Amino acid sequence: MPALNGSCLCNTVRYQIDGLDMPISHCHCHTCRKAHAAAFATTAGVLREHFRWLAGQEALGTFESSPGKLRYFCTRCGSHLMAERPAQPHVILRVATLDDDPQLTPAAHIWTEHAVPWLSDEALPRWRQWQGD
Ligand SMILES: [Zn+2]
Ligand SMILES: [Zn+2]
Repeated sequence: MPALNGSCLCNTVRYQIDGLDMPISHCHCHTCRKAHAAAFATTAGVLREHFRWLAGQEALGTFESSPGKLRYFCTRCGSHLMAERPAQPHVILRVATLDDDPQLTPAAHIWTEHAVPWLSDEALPRWRQWQGD
């Protein structure tokens, strides 16, 4: 598989991975919810040797959202790119920051005990752009 590229919203921080090493999960934990300002965050593990920053490392900030867990984000635009526990062999990629298609689909929802009560799995109307298009 060719390398996959990812970036933050302002394109200051860029990274590359050799592929996803673990299944894609939608994480509903309350720290992901707040860090992403989203009902859940789509994540997957990538072995450290398969992850590299390409640009913008000087713009990275970190936040320790629970003891020993560091979340890395762009200090210019706020995109959360990955998280890590330094002792683990993998980092936890924020899959939606990929610019290339990993050609895998999510395998599970995790931390649903933290899920917001207003999220439903029912089929909703889908609009290609803004509602009413
Ligand atoms: Zn940025
Ligand atoms: Zn989470």
